[in-house]
Amino acid sequence: MNIQTHTFIDAGRWSGRAFFGGWDRTEAGTINVTDPANGTVLASVGLGGPADIARAAGEARAAQKAWAKMLGAERARILNRAADLLEANGAELALWIMKESGSIHQKAMIEIEHGALFIRHAATLATAPSGMFLPGMDDRENYARRVPHGVVGVISPFNFPLVLSVRSIAAALAVGNAVVHKPDPRTPISGGIIIARIFEEAGLPAGILQIVPGGADAGEALCSDPNVAMISFTGSARGGAKVGEIAGRNLKRVQLELGGKNALIILGDADPDVAASNAAWGAFLHQGQICMATGLVLIDEKIEQAVTDRLVAKAAHLPVGDPSSNQVALGPIISDAQVTAIQAIVDDAVAKGARLLAGGRSDGRFYPATVLSGVKPGMLAFEEEVFGPVACIVSFRSDEEAIALANRSDYGLAAGVISADIGRAMAVGEELEVGQLHINDQTVNGGPYAPFGGRGKSGNGTRVGGPADIEEFTQWQWVSVKKTATPYPF
Ligand code: NAD
Repeated sequence: MNIQTHTFIDAGRWSGRAFFGGWDRTEAGTINVTDPANGTVLASVGLGGPADIARAAGEARAAQKAWAKMLGAERARILNRAADLLEANGAELALWIMKESGSIHQKAMIEIEHGALFIRHAATLATAPSGMFLPGMDDRENYARRVPHGVVGVISPFNFPLVLSVRSIAAALAVGNAVVHKPDPRTPISGGIIIARIFEEAGLPAGILQIVPGGADAGEALCSDPNVAMISFTGSARGGAKVGEIAGRNLKRVQLELGGKNALIILGDADPDVAASNAAWGAFLHQGQICMATGLVLIDEKIEQAVTDRLVAKAAHLPVGDPSSNQVALGPIISDAQVTAIQAIVDDAVAKGARLLAGGRSDGRFYPATVLSGVKPGMLAFEEEVFGPVACIVSFRSDEEAIALANRSDYGLAAGVISADIGRAMAVGEELEVGQLHINDQTVNGGPYAPFGGRGKSGNGTRVGGPADIEEFTQWQWVSVKKTATPYPF
């Protein structure tokens, strides 16, 4: 893709730059953005280091109060305009998502559609009632109102870069915060530049949104910056633990949306065709690089063979390659290191007795849809988040055993239960220790109106989306009003 200036994205504005009060060069230099399918350099953006983060946080702090004072209806108008621009330019912007993050067209369009929905949902928060009148405690009047934190630092990952950035950014902005956003340096366009462009064109006042792509050093600087009041982090459990530690040391509020090892439980009365289709979508979509990916396919032994045969047939027929051909179901893995990590998990399972029924060997960055059966506790494929297109089949004999196997994980993000008997599926679901439970569906589900997040190693109990957003991105302030000031005993 050549840098084009006569398009919405208008790369001439931002090439080699980051988004502060306007597009500007960073002190840390620039970084090339490459297509993981073929290594082509797509663009160059400004790379942020700690000094750039400090600048962004200072500018955001200076701009925030005026933004919070603006009428909610006006903030909502700006947000809705940004959503309109994302949708209107979706065809062009989806190409960048495909190129930069190795997404097939369908997944890139899900990001555009959901990105706009998240922004529109956020816009409704700007005019939502934000307080309550409190019962009297003496002769004064008391009320409690939700106020913005100030500057929110957002840190997002590479896999769904647009949606996972905008879901926090839009909600934080809607309720009057300024935002400093640090997208993953591998996906700074889908996770940053696109968002800056839609808000820039939508008329967001300069300084309210700062977007500075960078690595862990920039992220850590954000977590300790004195101008930042809250961190909204989406990424790995390892990264989240570090972010939580630094933010905690600096007494910042922190929202952690982390990884998962999500079980899809297929009960013995399920339709094998439907079950296999659910397992394939949950395990293979976006090459399995999704926090909610189906990480364990737990199948009742009565139908294990039937479901496995169908899943293997699907895996064998899913084409893998460069998404820009529009002929593939699976694109590239984001990095060589991630390919190596996937291979190590598959090899460990096979060495410990699992059967490799499809895939299992990379071709450069391309990893085929892979099916392992006979996966057991003690294998990395059972314990670890793979973040690759690997369906790990585990068989069980009773619903109780399925529940116990699913709950062994330290993670607690999502689970699915499929059965012909909805009451039975609900009874199994009741027992699962997860943040989201999907009855008669696989594990990959998300949307702007749901409070999304996990338990255990999947997060710190915070949620993003739906009713959670006001809770997360604002805090209470108690206001008491005496009609006149009165004296105290001394
Ligand atoms: P990662 O933790 O390595 O990186 C995520 C982001 O954090 C990036 O922007 C990165 O630069 C930054 N980062 C890394 N170390 C940091 C540090 N010490 N301080 C501050 N920032 C730091 O994650 P990844 O491997 O690139 O992304 C995939 C992970 O994200 C998976 O574990 C996946 O399950 C998880 N994820 C979770 C959700 C969710 O909503 N729960 C959604 C998508 C992905």
